[in-house]
Amino acid sequence: MYRDNTKVIHIGDKVIGGGNPILIQSMTNTKTNDVAATVAQIRRLAEAGCDIIRCTVPDMEAAQAIAQIRKEISIPLVADIHFDYKMAIAAMENGADKIRINPGNIGSREKVAEVVKVAKERNIPIRVGVNSGSLEKELVEKYSGVTAEGIVESALDKVHIIEDLDYDNMVISIKSSDVMMCVRAHELLADRTQYPLHVGITEAGTVTSGNIKSAVGLGIILNKGIGDTIRVSLTGDPVEEVKSAKLILRTLGLRKGGIEVVSCPTCGRTNIDLIGLANQVETMVQGYDLDIKVAVMGCAVNGPGEAKEADIGIAGGIGEGLLIKKGEIVRKVPESELLSTLKYELDHWKV
Ligand code: SF4
Repeated sequence: MYRDNTKVIHIGDKVIGGGNPILIQSMTNTKTNDVAATVAQIRRLAEAGCDIIRCTVPDMEAAQAIAQIRKEISIPLVADIHFDYKMAIAAMENGADKIRINPGNIGSREKVAEVVKVAKERNIPIRVGVNSGSLEKELVEKYSGVTAEGIVESALDKVHIIEDLDYDNMVISIKSSDVMMCVRAHELLADRTQYPLHVGITEAGTVTSGNIKSAVGLGIILNKGIGDTIRVSLTGDPVEEVKSAKLILRTLGLRKGGIEVVSCPTCGRTNIDLIGLANQVETMVQGYDLDIKVAVMGCAVNGPGEAKEADIGIAGGIGEGLLIKKGEIVRKVPESELLSTLKYELDHWKV
């Protein structure tokens, strides 16, 4: 499997590549120079399960803010740099654990060499990022349009620039908002390199469409054994990105732990507010460190049977509900107490 054989890279206290667990990344949407807001957001993201955070560094103020942000957070910080090589250097000097650059827009080889020199001195990994939207004109012409082949060639060209400077502490990311093009590009790239890959579907969209595109794209790519870190890009609260990324990894069996909630789609037999209840349960279970499945079912006719594969469940009835364990009805519970009953059971869960 590709990811078992990728190069091991250290990002702060986290390790990726070489078959290490796939880590979840997100990106802040605060102004990086607003230290208080950025730190608060990173803490919320870390609590939700974010392993590595990326912050944009558009100016020197932002680069300098990294020093203070870094002191106040517990997860590695990646500085996102566009165009100005001085920002990349300042970000590293201020404690960034990794930088993300596109050597193509950093400018001359000398400028890239300056960045690599500092990265080398501090052993800071460089993520080489290429986006289908900014593919070089020559490659668009060569491949008659924006193609997976062009994206891969562009990424490898950038990687070679850094390798030629005698540095190989790298991660690669190639992105496209065209899901199947992104899949193809990752397949091609995985055949041609051993650097860890950061995988994401770029500009995926708002919460619903972004989640679907990311789940499909990341699902296919990760299932092929490709991908060492992931990001679900959403036009929304970055905490949603982290929740979605966790669900994608868990669905693929690539991450264990946490409560999985299964709930029925409701039908004419539903006599309780199951949609509201399922949402409340989903929120409630987020704080539990239990590796179990919880079922939330709409009726007592099919609920217990359908909840057989769950460790514990609740099912609605008429004016009352049921507490179920492994498909067996344990007892009847007033409808208004279904949520609190489930909470009590989780609080006293014996592993
Ligand atoms: S569990 Fe009951 S309410 Fe839910 S879909 Fe099945 S039959 Fe309908």
